[in-house]
Amino acid sequence: MQAPSVGGVMLPRGNGQTVRLSSGASLMDFAEKINANPAALVSVMFNLGEMVTATQSVSDATLQLLADEMGFQLEIVSRDDEDRELLESFDIDFGANEGDEDQLAPRPPVVTVMGHVDHGKTRLLDAIRKSNVVAGEAGGITQHIGAYQVVTEVNGEQRPITFLDTPGHEAFSAMRARGAKSTDIAILVVAANDGVMPQTVEALNHAKAAGVPIVVAVNKIDVEGADPTKVRGQLTEFGLVAEEYGGDTMFVDISARQGLNIEQLLEAVVLTADASLDLRANPEQDAQGIAIEAHLDKGRGAMATVLVQRGTLRVGDSIVVGDAYGRVRAMLDENGNSLAEAGPSRPVLLLGLTSVPRAGDSFIVVDEDRTARQIAEKRSARDRNAAFAQRRVRVSLEDLDKAIAAGSIEQLNLIIKGDVSGSVEALEDALVKLDVGEEVELRVLHRGVGAITESDVDLAMGSDAIIIGFNVRAEGRARAAADKEGVDVRYYSVIYQAIEEIENALKGKLKPEYEEVRLGAAEIREVFRSSKFGNIAGVLVRDGIIRRNTKARLLRDGKVVAESLTIEGLRRFKDDATEVREGFEAGVTLGSFNDIKVDDIIETYEMREKPRA
Ligand code: GDP
Repeated sequence: MQAPSVGGVMLPRGNGQTVRLSSGASLMDFAEKINANPAALVSVMFNLGEMVTATQSVSDATLQLLADEMGFQLEIVSRDDEDRELLESFDIDFGANEGDEDQLAPRPPVVTVMGHVDHGKTRLLDAIRKSNVVAGEAGGITQHIGAYQVVTEVNGEQRPITFLDTPGHEAFSAMRARGAKSTDIAILVVAANDGVMPQTVEALNHAKAAGVPIVVAVNKIDVEGADPTKVRGQLTEFGLVAEEYGGDTMFVDISARQGLNIEQLLEAVVLTADASLDLRANPEQDAQGIAIEAHLDKGRGAMATVLVQRGTLRVGDSIVVGDAYGRVRAMLDENGNSLAEAGPSRPVLLLGLTSVPRAGDSFIVVDEDRTARQIAEKRSARDRNAAFAQRRVRVSLEDLDKAIAAGSIEQLNLIIKGDVSGSVEALEDALVKLDVGEEVELRVLHRGVGAITESDVDLAMGSDAIIIGFNVRAEGRARAAADKEGVDVRYYSVIYQAIEEIENALKGKLKPEYEEVRLGAAEIREVFRSSKFGNIAGVLVRDGIIRRNTKARLLRDGKVVAESLTIEGLRRFKDDATEVREGFEAGVTLGSFNDIKVDDIIETYEMREKPRA
């Protein structure tokens, strides 16, 4: 047996033994698995031409290289497997109905509404909600919690249906990308006056890929020129053949605006569920399900709408949702009624989590608060590690030319967000007209007005896109998500500069010397007027640090209102300060710039030389 020796240290030799490591593991983790000295592994990597430290998280390729060199079989454990193992170590099996056949009870179908923009998805969701007899009786004020339940009568039976009320396949896909299955049935909305459009096909493909049965709602039949027959014909080409033509897809002609045939549509959903799905769950077990929406409420803390998929969720339960945990303090339904318990397919808004989970995170109820906390903590540690490893594989403008040359990318996906629709359109127009050669195709996946949101980042992540912010920024959770996942977000305030940079990147000419490094952000709480200094901003540093003499920009409602400012004055109480950290208050002056308001955000950054790859 050969044992490589590095600097006199003997190394274990694998002989084909398997080492299991998670994505983002470090040499230290590797060393621990094979009982070796981490420093020796660093030397091995060095001899192989890679400088890495023992604790730094490395890419899968690096782990593979090291394993090959040392004669080990490497098995990279996927996120899902790892999570399953984590839960198994606590004796939890996510996704399992715990119980026998006879403990399974029917549960309502969960429905997502999809279709082309403007075909009436939102309107339909409103119409269905209004048809809800139960809400009417309760007389409650309905609120959007991300999902709602209605009851419809089919063959003399009262049948509930759960609707996810974020329309569109984007949310659906974002969840699916994260391994969550939220939807049993998709309603595909097609406007009868417009027919099948690109996003109709996209939605249909998403549903098919997920193996979700489709019910077609042919909408806007009240409009002149509506041609429901044509829609049926068009969809035949995509494998959706109407029952009346001998197929097995139910088509219902509706008008969301006039509330026409909504009951028939609901009936079609129930019948399709009965015909093609066996929707049952054990209501007795500990509850499990997924988060559909979550946000931070100023007064009530973290709030999440969860969909119970099996079991019954009760007030007082200890719960883990992704890397958030807590104890269910209260549950509300979509009518604002508080609930003591929620069974399978019931969406509820829940209070009591210590932090805000993400849409698509799974939730489980565990027997002790401590278990909940441990699982949550293990998950966030793991996500942090994986994020480092992942950063490397995402597309960025800098290495675009290399990726193209290597043939690993043939399409540059872009997401464009801007402050006004005019500039977004102008930018999109100019970009798609770029002559980018044969090797690569430029595609705008999404464009919109407003700040860069988490959903933009999700989309970018799912399709390796670069996000362009024109006079808008990513803030809060969106920025954190982009940082964590290594999504390249580019900010511009001049159209030609954006175009030039992308063109150069495509041609392999982009060699940025400096990059912007964000230092922190502060929120303006108060504005003091001083005859000597002009307007002084009384701020609270929200994250990072604010440092004197660094660059700054001013954001109002997520939009950049001033660029290239300088933090000229910085004070803590009465003293000058060089920097002020997160959580502290300070007084800031921006030189001669005085147009500041309460709630504005001062974002600070430095220009640092960028190491060339
Ligand atoms: P979404 O983008 O698919 O969510 O579409 P919306 O629900 O926002 O509807 C787009 C537009 O079509 C709105 O102006 C609606 O009022 C209108 N609309 C929706 N359903 C109907 C319908 O059944 N008949 C008519 N005439 N207009 C409709």
